[in-house]
Amino acid sequence: MRRLLEAQTTIFEISHLFYSHFHPDHTGEFVPFIFATKYPDGGQRKMPLTIAGGRGLLNFYEGLKSVYGHWIELAPGLLEIIEFDNKNADRKPFEDFTVNTAPVQHNEESIAFRITGSAGSSVVYTGDTDYCETIIDLAKGADLLICECALPDKLQTPGHLTPSLAGELAAKADVGSLVLTHFYPECEKTDIAAECRKTYSGPLVLAEDLMELEVKR
Ligand SMILES: [Zn+2]
Ligand SMILES: [Zn+2]
Repeated sequence: MRRLLEAQTTIFEISHLFYSHFHPDHTGEFVPFIFATKYPDGGQRKMPLTIAGGRGLLNFYEGLKSVYGHWIELAPGLLEIIEFDNKNADRKPFEDFTVNTAPVQHNEESIAFRITGSAGSSVVYTGDTDYCETIIDLAKGADLLICECALPDKLQTPGHLTPSLAGELAAKADVGSLVLTHFYPECEKTDIAAECRKTYSGPLVLAEDLMELEVKR
């Protein structure tokens, strides 16, 4: 939320939230995001909010409501919660874009997203995941692949990717460009790009907060 403000955007301008899975590093601001619409000078959310994730998102929200009650509810009609299949590929059309999802190897509810705009350009976000073929299918020919890369090659851990594994996914999916993100501190002591280059030779970006990327067809 702070980074959004630094990028000149408020939470009230956000219409959709997509959750890859429910780990705290990915959902920690779920409660503040909704609670912040309750400030006395608020009532600032006029735009409906859609929150989407894998199977279990409704339960996740109900669980939070058992703790926070009406403080994380929105005015009637403003909040919609959507679940994608977490066992098979899934697809849902939205107003200006389409979302395809695929199950990935991390948590029970974990899914990756492919967002395709009306002009046909597409962005894939893996969420946290181990190496899996479903990502290659989902990301086939995408303009941009935003891929998790938690740890350097030598510290490979089940449930997460490394630079060379992320590169392998990007190469096999033949994506337009690859963005690596979700770096654990160990990554700062390693030449992540060099490790990724062992398996991938296309355009490569190491993500930073507040980075803006243009996706062109
Ligand atoms: Zn995770
Ligand atoms: Zn994570």
